[in-house]
Amino acid sequence: MTTLDSPPVTQRLLATGGPEHAGLANHLAVHGTLPVPERRDRDFAPRLVAAIEQSGLTGRGGGGFPTGKKMALLAAQRRRPVIAVNTMEGEPASHKDEVLATSSPHLVLDGAELVARALGAVGIKVCVAHDRPATANALAFAIDERAAAGLLSVPTEVVTPPGRYVSGEESALVHWLDGGESTPTFRVEKPTILRVGGRPTLVDNAETMANIGLIGRYGPVWFREVGAPDAPGTTLLTVSGAVSRPGIYEIPLGTRVDRVLTGAGADSGIAAVLLGGYGGAWLGPQHFSSPLTPSAMATAGASIGAGVVVALATSSCGLAETARIAHWMAGESAGQCGPCVFGLPAIAEDLTLLAAGRSSHSVLERLCHRLDEVEGRGACGHPDGVVRIVRSALSVFADDLASHLRSGPCPGSRAHTVLALPGRDGGPWR
Ligand code: SF4
Repeated sequence: MTTLDSPPVTQRLLATGGPEHAGLANHLAVHGTLPVPERRDRDFAPRLVAAIEQSGLTGRGGGGFPTGKKMALLAAQRRRPVIAVNTMEGEPASHKDEVLATSSPHLVLDGAELVARALGAVGIKVCVAHDRPATANALAFAIDERAAAGLLSVPTEVVTPPGRYVSGEESALVHWLDGGESTPTFRVEKPTILRVGGRPTLVDNAETMANIGLIGRYGPVWFREVGAPDAPGTTLLTVSGAVSRPGIYEIPLGTRVDRVLTGAGADSGIAAVLLGGYGGAWLGPQHFSSPLTPSAMATAGASIGAGVVVALATSSCGLAETARIAHWMAGESAGQCGPCVFGLPAIAEDLTLLAAGRSSHSVLERLCHRLDEVEGRGACGHPDGVVRIVRSALSVFADDLASHLRSGPCPGSRAHTVLALPGRDGGPWR
């Protein structure tokens, strides 16, 4: 592994300096006044859409869809839209949106304000999971500051849907905003027009909105000055696990995986990295020299997803850790689709048997069959995430699997977990 003296940090999104500097005065001192259009400036929408398209910004909530394309679709609608800022952060191992919202809430709101003005929106809903009160309070305080300063062009409010894993999924979010439960209702194949109260609704992640706030100020050329040609800009990562300096890192896209690990204080004994989130994938050491870009990670069978990076030490057991994730994910099913409700617990149980060394090749065959059966069969992508991470575990930890089948569990299977796994009861859906 390459060694680094310091983390590969680039401060753009987190330039204001932390929660103690999150106020409007400091935000304006660091970033200057937000350039907003005159009321009758009809060219603002195409100008902003063009700037975002030129910037190459993609969604930072996990999907990675081109932000400009999504906005152009909304700009073509006749009805005035609703803007939803997705700050749900349902991934237990992710805290990047929380750190962004508590450190730079005005940058998030700048992006939402620009989008609302460009699209002539009727209002902005800042969606924060009910179990993330620090995030909700920081954003609500920032909204009050902006209201007092006369900086809000439309009604802007924080709303708090239930804090469940799938509550931040786009169709679940608009379902809840429309008065329903925060459960997914269909697979969002982008680009799709989502609706709240019959109005077209733009849902963008908080980090994506903050980047729009930066592009609106500094332009697309500035935005592309850091990052990779095919993946410009910076991204926020939540780095945890076997590292001495866990935390939130803002890195240029294209930074190598091993630079992130050494920057966060990992030593040489890293067996694998969980990338993206609990519906993500494990990366083996052969991919540690790869750049963190969507294309390079796709080649490695992974994706940056929600920016979760969990380093797994060689002393841990990747099979046992994945079994824990699979059990937790099974408990987060919204209980609507048979393959998800019955398939995920069965998958988790098979993987537990393999991790515990109490199984045979027939259990492995049954598990592979179940993965094939469940894949693509849910109303949302939740079960596919479980299939993805379990398949990647069977591949990345293939030698461990063979050893478990041959001689029983490794010592690592009894090691303390490095994963954040909150209690199962995520509360009601409404
Ligand atoms: S696939 Fe699972 S989480 Fe998704 S809607 Fe169906 S039951 Fe709910």
